[in-house]
Amino acid sequence: MKVCTGLTASPGICSGKAYIFTSPSLSYDPSQTGGAGEEKERLERAFSQSLAELEAIKDTLSGSLGEEYGHIFRAQMTILEDDDFKREMLDKLEELPCRAETALEEVYKAYAALFSEMEENSYNAQRLADLDDVCKRVLRNLLGIEELTLSSLPPEAVVVAEELFPSDTAMMDRKNIRGFITEKGGLTSHVAILAKSLSLPAAVGSRGIMGQVEKDETIVLDVRDYEKAHIYISPDGVQLEEFNGWKRDYEQRREELLKMKDLDSVTRDGVKITLSANIGSVEDLINAQGFGARSVGLFRTEFLFLKGELPGEEEQYRVYAEAAEKLRGGMLIIRTLDIGGDKEVKALALPREENPFLGLRGIRLCLKFEELFLTQLRALLRAGVHGDIRIMFPMISSLLEFRKTKTLVERAAAELEERRIPYKQGIPLGVMVETPAAVFLADDLTKEAAFVSMGTNDLTQYILSVDRGNEEISSYYRTFSPAVLRAIGVTAAAARKNGKWAGVCGELAGNPLAIPVLIGLGVEELSVSPSALPQTVALIRDLDYDRCKELAEKAISLSTEEDVKACLKAAEY
Ligand code: PEP
Ligand code: MG
Repeated sequence: MKVCTGLTASPGICSGKAYIFTSPSLSYDPSQTGGAGEEKERLERAFSQSLAELEAIKDTLSGSLGEEYGHIFRAQMTILEDDDFKREMLDKLEELPCRAETALEEVYKAYAALFSEMEENSYNAQRLADLDDVCKRVLRNLLGIEELTLSSLPPEAVVVAEELFPSDTAMMDRKNIRGFITEKGGLTSHVAILAKSLSLPAAVGSRGIMGQVEKDETIVLDVRDYEKAHIYISPDGVQLEEFNGWKRDYEQRREELLKMKDLDSVTRDGVKITLSANIGSVEDLINAQGFGARSVGLFRTEFLFLKGELPGEEEQYRVYAEAAEKLRGGMLIIRTLDIGGDKEVKALALPREENPFLGLRGIRLCLKFEELFLTQLRALLRAGVHGDIRIMFPMISSLLEFRKTKTLVERAAAELEERRIPYKQGIPLGVMVETPAAVFLADDLTKEAAFVSMGTNDLTQYILSVDRGNEEISSYYRTFSPAVLRAIGVTAAAARKNGKWAGVCGELAGNPLAIPVLIGLGVEELSVSPSALPQTVALIRDLDYDRCKELAEKAISLSTEEDVKACLKAAEY
């Protein structure tokens, strides 16, 4: 048995068969060609096979995510069904003796060149991306290479990949996937966050894992520990039995905790802490309600934009309204689009940036593309009629940005007024505190904002100047750094002084070691991944508020992360 380690991205324990997710080489020898008749036949076969594959993906997607996602692949099928497209390749095979692969590549190049000459916009960029994707599929089928996809996985798959992106996770075959392990990625990267929302055990930053494991090998992924993930490859029967025992105990403990899910999140001495869930879709909300969620502290709306085409006002309105109705009056904090950083929206086809986490991200992008933003704001104001919706803005680093944002909310309202469409007036507007600037401006911001929620994933990244997605420097990503804790304390105190509440919606909010200190620092709301809700209720009910305050004071007086952790681990509540 081999043992590897990684960073804990999403807790849990699972076992299954390794599914290696890596792009195969599509190279071939162009001089090896059959006759024109044989090459034509190969091409026809590859086209039909590709069409059948696309049809199957379309059906799976429609089934698991909804009809609207299926049509993403419809565009690619249309290319294959276009008679002219294939005819050009067949003509080429007739004209000169060459391989079907060569004919395909030449026609592809000609079409791609045409697209490049067209106006640069997101529609053309998407069509080019579709063409590129579909031609690679045909080429792969010509070469007889099996498709590697996450949308249809073999049973009990533990996916092992060099890197995964949020869009890969969105497409995952939820029925068959047991967990995933990646070489790259930090513990608060967005694939990690998505894994949590799917309640899927996951490890990231497991360097060298691709070289250690082979397709179909038995693999155990143990992510019960918050600090480190353990990966066991090819355990023997006795070892596997031991792992199964761990799994049974873990699941039994979770069952026990689940019984607490409907209890109030109140400390032993009667201080109420609002406990909310982080979601990225209505499906996540349903899942969160199964874990007892009564409110949502962070709805990451950009995930609606990562799956394909940009959703319009109507579509967004329906999603937000449905979420509000499902919460039956419970608070629903919806964060406006936070595109950029590691969340690329292909449909927007934005130019690459040297430094995306310091680039056109979050509110900056929305203030630049006002129409995109106004569409979302109108949808949000309209959905406000259906429940207790509050709007929150990401990546704010100046008061002026917040004021500009408020002006756009007023403009969206005026547009709805003009169209005589009902909407909610006076929706509370909040600010995410996730830049050091927002911490220093917390007093000014909380005078004008209705609430603040601290995005500690980014706040940690920006305070410590360490890329949250880069596993190479993960030891510098000090979640319990006194610098971060002091920033949280300053922000919570400023909010309280101005009569507003402060919450935390970064991953720290669900970390059992951090919860007492966050409460002691004056945080009034915690928004955590759905599966962490029951354990968080249980923990809060075990705490004494005054004790938490003493602990927080002590923690922020310490100078190193090591001392803070040692203090928190030794604490009794
Ligand atoms: C955060 O930064 O902590 C946060 C909640 O937002 P995201 O993880 O989506 O950047
Ligand atoms: Mg953030």
